[in-house]
Amino acid sequence: MRIGFDLDEVVVDLTGPLVKLANDHYDLELSRDSFQIYDFKNNVYVDDTKLNDEIIDFLIYYANDEEFQFKAEPCAGAVNTLLYLNWLYHTIYFITSRPVENKGTTEDWLRKYNIPHAELIVLGYGVEKGPAGKHNHLDFFLDDRISHLESMLKHKRDWPGGLFVIDRPWNRYSEKFNRIYDWSEVGKTIGGQYA
Ligand SMILES: [Mg+2]
Repeated sequence: MRIGFDLDEVVVDLTGPLVKLANDHYDLELSRDSFQIYDFKNNVYVDDTKLNDEIIDFLIYYANDEEFQFKAEPCAGAVNTLLYLNWLYHTIYFITSRPVENKGTTEDWLRKYNIPHAELIVLGYGVEKGPAGKHNHLDFFLDDRISHLESMLKHKRDWPGGLFVIDRPWNRYSEKFNRIYDWSEVGKTIGGQYA
């Protein structure tokens, strides 16, 4: 199959180091559960509005920073599962909303961890993912953001491998897509299907 994955918060763990950085910098006690809404802008971290705005800018800055992205580590189990799926002859695509100019560093990051892939598609913030899913004839896609899965479904009706959401605090409001809890489940879900 042609299988597609989002990168941030699916393959790359950005939230872990972001929480640590913000906590150290502002003396906070944020956790992964502090992000109940996908967009950094819509979460309340502290009661002080001015400080809250400052924290939002801080988080957005680092989440998009090439060096920060490059230093981030893979989500638990992601690399081994991707190697396994590649070994089973599935074709791997990554579709990310990272800034387009971060493509080179993102490619370097994938190489750093020897993550096999046919293509890395970097769309930039706010660009719909559905057209890229359709264009590449994907059979399966996994994202942490519901709107990207909705976009996939809008542009392509048939998903033989399925459309899946990886469980994160900010996507628990929706039951529209199949939910996957960790990478071992990804391996079982796709590994059991013909390449
Ligand atoms: Mg993501």
